[in-house]
Amino acid sequence: MRIDSCRKCGTELIVKQNCSVCKTPIKFECKDCKRESDEQIHSICRLVDMNYRPIILEAA
Ligand SMILES: [Zn+2]
Ligand SMILES: [Zn+2]
Repeated sequence: MRIDSCRKCGTELIVKQNCSVCKTPIKFECKDCKRESDEQIHSICRLVDMNYRPIILEAA
């Protein structure tokens, strides 16, 4: 996944928060001006997180 640069000052963004389900970065912060990017919502991960069931185990 690519990390964008700050829309305000152009500085590279650092990862602020990872998705609790797939561990992909979903929120970034500018190192320079501390401006936070919008959180990238994973709708599928949200569902998994809310109604967590070990579905994968059944297929094994
Ligand atoms: Zn996710
Ligand atoms: Zn910035």
